[in-house]
Amino acid sequence: METLHDLSLARGTLDRAGLRRRDPDLLALLLKDPQTRVVELVEGRAQVIESGRDCALLLRPPVEQDAFRLAVFLGQDGHGTSFVGVVGDAQDPSGTAPWRSLRGVGALLSDRDAGIFATVQALANWHASHTHCPRCGAVTEPDQAGWVRRCTRDGTEHYPRTDPAVIMAVTDATDRLLLARSPHWPPGRMSVLAGFVEPGESLEAAVAREVFEEVGVVVEQVGYLGNQPWPFPGSLMVGFTGRAVDSTLSLDQEEIIEAMWVSRQDLPEMVLAGRFALSPTVSIARRMIEHWYGGPIDTPVTP
Ligand SMILES: [Zn+2]
Repeated sequence: METLHDLSLARGTLDRAGLRRRDPDLLALLLKDPQTRVVELVEGRAQVIESGRDCALLLRPPVEQDAFRLAVFLGQDGHGTSFVGVVGDAQDPSGTAPWRSLRGVGALLSDRDAGIFATVQALANWHASHTHCPRCGAVTEPDQAGWVRRCTRDGTEHYPRTDPAVIMAVTDATDRLLLARSPHWPPGRMSVLAGFVEPGESLEAAVAREVFEEVGVVVEQVGYLGNQPWPFPGSLMVGFTGRAVDSTLSLDQEEIIEAMWVSRQDLPEMVLAGRFALSPTVSIARRMIEHWYGGPIDTPVTP
């Protein structure tokens, strides 16, 4: 089975240099070194330098305020340059570089920058939601260069979470693709099904369970397709294919408000006609749909 390569958010190139996180002075030293490159994240956005369709993260030397911010050591490149992510309070309106979200620019960034943005976004989300110890409720504080939070009362260490989710391109006996619409998605969006892996469950079992729960279809021949981080807020999306035993759909109306089997012939016409919209190219969903289709799918030009 052919797998998906170069997924937008699975292209990171930095050496994470995990052993350096053990140095308790690492961040303080790096944030005093003008050779360090810092990416600042504010409310899920980072500054980018745009040039045509290409886009690069604005990576700057440390500034004095960085020492007072939540900071994470992201790793180093082949030239020995160290990269640090910091979480700022407000977007500096004086800069000329626009602030962009990872969803917006993840597919346009270089391999290195896409990996940097995905990692700092995932870590920032985790820090923001793990300010207190799950054992005793006391405040936790960052440790290990931003890769651990330690309880200030009982000293327990808490590690960044990544929540696995499965996403599946299900086809029927005539190779039509199952697309569905969740009430939680943007209006008009149709996509492949996805869901979180439950405790005690394998990835393949999660694929079969989710498809049956959401549209009443039994799937078999579940096969791995690819994976990428999806830090909104903290998932790893693992893509699969699956074959429906029967194409009769029976929707769980709370989770799925519309579902259909779409042929290769009909899909591009329906998209261009505005019948529904697909997920953005930064998503594994879009890549899976185009993988089934056999190439890029044109979308209407948005005003
Ligand atoms: Zn505690």
